[in-house]
This record gives sequence, structure tokens and C-alpha cells, in this order.
Amino acid sequence: MTEKSDNVRVRFAPSPTGALHIGGGHTALFNWLWARHNNGKFILRIEDTDLVRSTKEYEQTIMSGMVWLGLDWDEGPDIGGNYGPYRQSERLDIYREYANKLVDEGKAYRDGEAIIFRVEPGHDISFKDIVYGQIDVMSDGLREKDSDKLKDLVLIKSDGMPTYNYAVVVDDHLMRITHVIRGEDHISNTPKQILIYRALGWDVPEFAHLPMILGRDKKKLSKRHGATSIYEYRDMGYMPDSMFNFLALLGWSAGDDKEIFTRPQAAEWFELSRVTRKAAVFDFDKLNYINQEHLKALDPFVRLSMVKPFWIEAGLAVNEHDDKYLADALTLMAGRGRTAKEMAEFSDYFVSFEPVKARWDAEGIDKEKLKPFFAELFSHDWKASELEQAARDWIGNQEGAKMKDYAMPLRFALTGMKVSPGIFEVAELMGRSECEKRLKYYGLM
Ligand code: GLU
Repeated sequence: MTEKSDNVRVRFAPSPTGALHIGGGHTALFNWLWARHNNGKFILRIEDTDLVRSTKEYEQTIMSGMVWLGLDWDEGPDIGGNYGPYRQSERLDIYREYANKLVDEGKAYRDGEAIIFRVEPGHDISFKDIVYGQIDVMSDGLREKDSDKLKDLVLIKSDGMPTYNYAVVVDDHLMRITHVIRGEDHISNTPKQILIYRALGWDVPEFAHLPMILGRDKKKLSKRHGATSIYEYRDMGYMPDSMFNFLALLGWSAGDDKEIFTRPQAAEWFELSRVTRKAAVFDFDKLNYINQEHLKALDPFVRLSMVKPFWIEAGLAVNEHDDKYLADALTLMAGRGRTAKEMAEFSDYFVSFEPVKARWDAEGIDKEKLKPFFAELFSHDWKASELEQAARDWIGNQEGAKMKDYAMPLRFALTGMKVSPGIFEVAELMGRSECEKRLKYYGLM
């Protein structure tokens, strides 16, 4: 266990040029975990210096994506804080002030409207990454492409906007960020940032770069692998709790026996030192498994509230039932369905007879053979155990009769499905008169 420190300050710094993607959600989540683990602060900073591609709508979408995942922040553009403003476009004076200082000290120079940092040879800009370990770099390595010439770093472009590598240093310092946790694609930027920290006489924060996320084909996760934005998973019926759980396991583990967990548990167990540098594979089977486990563990009425919208979307008359009946139906489904959407599909017959009729037409069924069996069932108490016993007794008295020859038509008539929970339990929950209605429709009574 590492010592907990309540002055940990971390940030998620998205550019609002698109929705919250898997990679961004993953980075935000690891920052959140480290902040919460340490009773520290989690800061949201909007890096909107690309005026053409940044929009307020994307900023909103990213924030709602974070809210959906359950990642709350302590300082940000919407709620303020002591180290604002939290949008880079509102900090241009600050960037200019420190760039001018570097010019005054002879560490940077002007080229037209632009301000450029002079990269000198002989500076050791190595660093020890919490995840990737020692990264050795000399400033002599920062060269122009295919040339021996050192490449100076643009701080302020001629249009007056700061570059990423410069603004990120000024902000991380002024916002008192203690740990910079971000994707491994930024490892190569880190030495350049260290040069700027040094030139400004500032302490360098800790760095922890997160492993890349790959598709199952071991290629960098992209649209080709399916949904890439966090919201697409919400719309497919994945729960935020599961998405959180799943993303937390990309590059981190809390130990083999701790695979299904809540946010507070993850925050308690999280250690940056346990993050692996090995690329993490986005595995849909695992996501489905995790989602199924979270669905199973839900309070029945909360589970109902997740499934209901999908029944409504399918045009089923949800309002004809009380919530207790519908919640019981989902409890009976006991883990059938990996998402709320699948669960809604697999259990539609509890809500309405219409989808059953659409699936099964009783063709080829020997109705005359089945009628006495159903008549017998209806002479008993409408309880699953009673019905099952009655069915066994009746079948036991028929030459060569098998349970499945009678239970299957019953299952088809009630559910229109080949698989369902125990059919006598389904019958009990649906109720005697609904079952009678369905069997009569098929001419089985
Ligand atoms: N705006 C940068 C990005 O979205 C932030 C990188 C960082 O965390 O330093 O990649």
C-alpha cells in the first residue's frame, strides 16, 4: 500500500473536438480513480486552442459522458475553482506573460508574431514514468526531421494561440497538478515539456502514461472495431456501472478475485503502480460478462428502470402492468441477457402476447393430444411447484409420454421462445387467466 496523500491534484484535459471516446473515458477514469483514492482533487480542463475544431457542443458531450460514467470533477469550466479559468481559450494572457518572460531571459525569441523556445544541446530531459519506468532523452535528440539541427519549440503561434506542449506546462504548473496521467501517445511530448518546466524554473510533476487500447486484432482501437464513443455503449444498453468497471480493467487489475466492483471499491483499491504498460485489449465478451454481472446484482426496480425504455422502444404496452410484476419477471430472467436491451428482448412475452404470436403459429402441433394435459393443469392451484407436480403425475400415467413433448408446446404458447426460465414459474407469474388466453388462442384449450 502506498501512503494516501490528500494533496494529490490530477486533471483530465480533453480537446473538445469530438465526443468522449473510449480512450478519453479511460484516461478520465484513471485520473478520477487516483484523485479519489488519495482524497485529492480531479480537475477538468478544456484544451480548446484549436479554434476551428473545438465546439461548445463537444465540450458539453464530453462532460455529459463523464457524468454518465460517474466521474465527477472538483474544479472545471462549469463549476469554477481556485485555479481557473479552466478553458485554455480564456487563458491566452497567461500564456503570453510567461512566453514574454522567456523572451526577456533570452530563452525564447520572436519570429514575427510567433514566440519560439530555443532548444540547446546538452540538457538531460530524462524522466521516470510511474508506469513505463525510466525514459532516457537528451535535448540533443530533439532534431528536425532527417537533419542534425535541433528543432526549437514553438510556444505561441503567429495567430496568437499557444501550442499544446507549452500551454499544458503552464496550466499543469499553475493548477498545481501533482500527477500527469494520460495516454502513452504523449510519452514523446514529455521531454519537451520538461525542457519548458526547467526554463521557467518550475518543479516537474510525476508522469504516469497509460497503455494503448487495442482491438481484438491487436490494432489500435478505432471505428473499424465497432462503437468508439462512450455514448454508443449507453445506447446499446450497457450500464454506466459496467462500463466503469470494464474501463478500469483496461491496464489495471485489483487482483484475480476482484473483477466485478463498484466505483468506491475501485477507488479504494486503485494504485498507479499496478497499471501495466502492456497494451490493453478491448474485449466485447468481457464487457458483456461484466455487464451481465452488474445487471444480476441490481436492485429489481433499478433493473426494471434500465430495461423498461427498451420495451417501450419496441412498442410493448408496458403500462398495462404494475412495476412489481415487471420487476419480478426480470428477476425470474436471472441473468439471461447481457445488456438491458437483450434482457428486454428475451423477456418481451411477459409484457405482451403480440411478439409471441409473431414468433409462433402452432403449425404442426397435435392439439388434440395436448388438450387433456392442459385441462389437467388448469384443475390445479396456479403455483409453479403444483403445476410441475401435476405435469409429472399426468405424464407418468401416459404410455411413452415425455415431459418435453408437453413442456415445449407450453413454452412456445406462452413465450414464443425455445429457451426461457422454468416454464411453470413463467406460468405462475403470468397468471392463470393470461395463460388461458394464450393457450386458447392457439386452440390448445
Ligand atoms: N488535450 C490533450 C489531449 O487531448 C491533453 C493531453 C494531456 O493530457 O497532456 O490529448
